[in-house]
Amino acid sequence: QVRTRFAPSPTGFIHLGNIRSALYPWAWARATGGVLVLRIEDTDVERSSQAAVDVILEGMQWLGLDHDEGPFYQMQRMDRYKAVLAQLVEQGWVYPCYMSMAELDALRERQMANKEKPRYDGTWRPESGKVLPAVPEGVQPVLRFKTPQGGSVVWDDKVKGRIEISNDELDDLVIARPDGTPTYNFCVVVDDIDMRITHVIRGDDHVNNTPRQIHVFRALGVEPPVYAHLPTVLNEQGEKMSKRHGAKPVTQYRDEGYLADGVVNYLARLGWSHGDDEIFSREQLIAWFNLDHLGRSAAQFDEAKLRWVNAQHMKVCDNGVLAGLVSAQFASRGLSVPADERLAAMCALFKDRCSTTVELADWLSVYFVDVQPGEADLAQHLNEVSRPALIALRDRLAELPDWDAPSINQAIKNTIGERKVKMPQLAIPLRVLVCGRAQTPSIDAVLALFDKNTVLKRLQGV
Ligand code: GLU
Repeated sequence: QVRTRFAPSPTGFIHLGNIRSALYPWAWARATGGVLVLRIEDTDVERSSQAAVDVILEGMQWLGLDHDEGPFYQMQRMDRYKAVLAQLVEQGWVYPCYMSMAELDALRERQMANKEKPRYDGTWRPESGKVLPAVPEGVQPVLRFKTPQGGSVVWDDKVKGRIEISNDELDDLVIARPDGTPTYNFCVVVDDIDMRITHVIRGDDHVNNTPRQIHVFRALGVEPPVYAHLPTVLNEQGEKMSKRHGAKPVTQYRDEGYLADGVVNYLARLGWSHGDDEIFSREQLIAWFNLDHLGRSAAQFDEAKLRWVNAQHMKVCDNGVLAGLVSAQFASRGLSVPADERLAAMCALFKDRCSTTVELADWLSVYFVDVQPGEADLAQHLNEVSRPALIALRDRLAELPDWDAPSINQAIKNTIGERKVKMPQLAIPLRVLVCGRAQTPSIDAVLALFDKNTVLKRLQGV
């Protein structure tokens, strides 16, 4: 069974680039009937926050990226890491290193001066026949992992292909700090083992950690999982997407009126493909997803494209669902509009012309708040031809026994026939006066969803 995970660090508000690293493991788990584990990597206590955890949980929930196990918090697993560490110490995989910061800096400077790659030189690594320096007094050592010497680490990355790193390029990894707390790379491996992870799908900023982690896996007697390192997501300026460069928290897209399905579709395509298919549902994504079609090059975020993808999902979104979302948008504007059948009918009528539910709420607000027709529109469309026609129509509408689209349509047609005007000469000023806009969907359908008195009132001042 496939077991995969999403392991965010709650050190900033998660953005779309980050959450793509949740989407692919989720899709892979769902595609294979596997398991998605959520693990919060909160060991950087200084920079981690509950608020950032909340955005992760809320964002995943909003996007429907449900996990099967967790959330596990690394800070709550310290005892476990320490126990495994003790095991490695016992087996001789680990040794204390007393090199001070100052000594490490001096070493680095020497190496740089010699144009060598800076790395720990193994001063404290025990070897048979080697005499170690005298242990300095009052210094708490770090613990280093004995990276195998000679040879190389190889893995078959699902995105990048075969990667081979010579062991001579790897330092002896520090796996515990002077106070005994285990370091990041070590915790990740213990977790991936304990959580029985079969597939690690993560950002390629972790490629350098992978060979180190693989060594720790093997020291613990476990074969490492399959790795897939996803290329970076760039922002519109071509920089790595980051909060520092203005990337918005995921949940902001919800507040800006994007649909979860639209965002999932867009993110799925940002680094994965299924032929030329641009627009697909969550079900199709699950049916189609595999690791073989992950892209190899960096993907660039494009908000205009996201809007377009979202607009396609708006068109097919269930009207009752849209009504709920639009009702929530109105609530955030202090307007109480129930998500009832009338609102659903309004959504059905207007959704084709909207990219987001915010735009939809903007349109539909004509039904719930007074409109202010623009001076320019009035000047352009209200004249000696249209004015009498509008008055005649208003009187006709007032008399209508049934307030529905066919009756309204008939009243408009009769007025056109009687006043000898063209359709736009009547319909455009009608739109301007009732909706405050010169363009709307079919005006009879638009009017039918108003309360009759509101329409008559808006036509009063003609
Ligand atoms: N916590 C890491 C991050 O947020 C991910 C680690 C991993 O997936 O192995 O970048």
